[in-house]
Amino acid sequence: MDDNEDIAETVTAEADAANLTLFDGETVTGLRGIRVFDVGQGDCIGLLDGGLMDHPDEANPNATAERLPVSYEGGFASIVLTHWDKDHYWSANKKNPEAQKGEWLVPRQMASPQAVRFAAELDRAKCWPENRDAPVRLDIGGRWDIEIRKCGKFSKKKLTEDRNKTGLAVTLLEWRAQQVDTYMLLPGDCPFHRIPSLPSAELRGLVAYHHGARKGWTHKTSAAIANFHTKHEMVYSYGENDYGHPDRTSYEPNWNETARTTGEARAAGEKGFDIRWK
Ligand SMILES: [Zn+2]
Repeated sequence: MDDNEDIAETVTAEADAANLTLFDGETVTGLRGIRVFDVGQGDCIGLLDGGLMDHPDEANPNATAERLPVSYEGGFASIVLTHWDKDHYWSANKKNPEAQKGEWLVPRQMASPQAVRFAAELDRAKCWPENRDAPVRLDIGGRWDIEIRKCGKFSKKKLTEDRNKTGLAVTLLEWRAQQVDTYMLLPGDCPFHRIPSLPSAELRGLVAYHHGARKGWTHKTSAAIANFHTKHEMVYSYGENDYGHPDRTSYEPNWNETARTTGEARAAGEKGFDIRWK
């Protein structure tokens, strides 16, 4: 198998951006916030899956299904995969394979043979339509929306791809008086200057991009975090690693002091930390 095999070969359908059905509009009527699960060195937010090195359930693989439940009465959770790096999908491979039964929205990227094999296991995967530039907005009801956008184009001509920079980023919007009042940002591993049309509202919740890495930090990052809501909250999601994640000095003084880490959740016996509007 070619190392640069296009992941799109293995997904079953092209997403119709206007008809994304990731959420059941009858049962989902509001958005309280996010839950950042402790998956060790990786990212898993709400129902997104991840985790690879220094996994908290390494000694007890069955525990992941209990920590990151993906099935409920009405079916299986929908999953938005930010990008095809192993620390963002690996928990759904062996530790919690039920996650493969839900609907996945994935970016078109050059993926490793391992990722291609995993993608072939997905029952219902939709690939982000590469010709779409604008964010897709999902109306959650109440004052909230979810927006999903792609951070860069897949190029068939290039032989390599920095997947951190071409994945999907998610924003959660809270509206007041017909404008976005505050938002939460789930950038995955994408540097901010690659995320198109970020809201200009105050940032309420943040999962530090790329596990708190400094790499890729630009004035866009500084500008986005400078516009913070008085109740701003941030979580660092990482495990033991050799990359120097996180560099907490980047988020001083306003964000770092009150930030929580997935390691703290683990030490406290918690599944993760929530960031809630109220
Ligand atoms: Zn990552």
